[in-house]
Amino acid sequence: NLKIGVVGLPNVGKSTFFNAITNSAASAENYPFCTIDPEESRVAVPDSRFDWLCETYKPLSKVPAYLTVIDIAGLVKGASTGAGLGNNFLSHIRAVDAIFHVVRAFSEEDVIHVEGELDPVRDLEIIHNELRLKDEEFLTKKLEELSKITARVGKGGSTADKAKKEELDITQKVLKFVAEDKKDVRKGDWNNKEVDIINALQLLTAKPVIYLVNLSEKDFIRKKNKWLPKIKTWVDENNPGDLILPFSAGFEYQHSVLPTKEEKDAFLAEKDAQSSFPRIIVAGYQALQLMYFFTCGPDEVRAWTIRKHTKAPKAAGVIHTDFEKSFILAEVMKFDDLKELGNEAAVKSAGKYLTKGKEYVFEDGDIAYFRSGL
Ligand code: GDP
Repeated sequence: NLKIGVVGLPNVGKSTFFNAITNSAASAENYPFCTIDPEESRVAVPDSRFDWLCETYKPLSKVPAYLTVIDIAGLVKGASTGAGLGNNFLSHIRAVDAIFHVVRAFSEEDVIHVEGELDPVRDLEIIHNELRLKDEEFLTKKLEELSKITARVGKGGSTADKAKKEELDITQKVLKFVAEDKKDVRKGDWNNKEVDIINALQLLTAKPVIYLVNLSEKDFIRKKNKWLPKIKTWVDENNPGDLILPFSAGFEYQHSVLPTKEEKDAFLAEKDAQSSFPRIIVAGYQALQLMYFFTCGPDEVRAWTIRKHTKAPKAAGVIHTDFEKSFILAEVMKFDDLKELGNEAAVKSAGKYLTKGKEYVFEDGDIAYFRSGL
């Protein structure tokens, strides 16, 4: 179960964002919902295909894909050396698979900024550095361990020794990238072997990041804020390719507490703006390298989350562990075919109801039915 964590300096709007996400999850009355704990929220991933399938099959039960969002409180400057509750928070970041980095670009006299004047670029730099320093410390320790082992085995050595030596070389290379080039690990150009070693290290700067820029309601609605171009320049220079999504936590929170769809619609019409949540949630889900396929029938329309590039037996195993071993074949419809032709029978007579074997790699939005030997 992959998770995305909300990270940022204190008072940037993380709790407001997290509470709004939690409210919007709880108020989606069609969806079965459960809160696992107060720091964790499961929010339905919006998808017009899922909505269409539900309208078409009119199932008793509807289960969308979920994004699991984790609230990670207050990272402060110096956290990597133990300031605030530093190390503790950093270990929470280690446990998530991607990061929503919330940065504050709203000025509000009443809300104190921990670093003084409002300056989102300085704030980005602080968090960037704390995470990087933590990776540096971790890699340095790892390197010491590996040096001891390789020194002991000496020259020549077995295959296992050579593997340790290779691990040492790669760790050294990654450390240089983080400590000297001052770059985030995810921005490196690593080969397969290096990726394997890096994945095992669970480095903080290896995790995908989406920058969520928290604007005042006014700036959000007029789509203008003087910091946005500066933030974009910083991201382009330091972490090119990372997504920047402007939003307003205050606006989302007000929207999220309205109890009915009518009231929400009226609120959006009055403000002449849309919620940013659908985009933020879909982006978070994609950052985790996840996708889903559907199963459809009169009992249930359901989205099943799998990693990208998953083959058919493994996909079947997500539904039921026994399905993986006893997999025979998968019957697959493409969503676009089903939508265009209207129903399963029409898809079949058009010759577009596909039979796929063990080597089939699932595509996002496939509608599947598995045949197993059970
Ligand atoms: P956290 O420490 O990062 O979790 O920040 P909070 O969510 O507790 O927010 C800190 C303060 O900023 C609270 O008083 C919020 O009401 C306020 N705040 C958060 N988001 C916004 C926003 O979009 N606009 C304005 N004006 N205030 C906000």
